[in-house]
Amino acid sequence: MTTTGKTTKAPQLHPCACGCGTQIARTFVRGHDSKLGKQLRADYAAGKLTRAQVLAAAKKISERFHGKMTRSIAQVDAKAKAAKAKAAA
Ligand SMILES: [Zn+2]
Repeated sequence: MTTTGKTTKAPQLHPCACGCGTQIARTFVRGHDSKLGKQLRADYAAGKLTRAQVLAAAKKISERFHGKMTRSIAQVDAKAKAAKAKAAA
């Protein structure tokens, strides 16, 4: 437990919002927003997460990401609806 000289001036870092553990100054490591978006979308499509759960998780990250996931989920819904209509026909 020694704290030797680790006080260099650096931007305030926090873990990347996707959960990969990378420490960065921004919300996401470049490209990781779409990585997380794809994951959430897949979980929603598979029924592992509800729409509310996905959007709540996205909202915690940022308004922008929330908007992105709202659109992404709408696409999943549209696809599921189309598939259902096809199956019923
Ligand atoms: Zn990440």
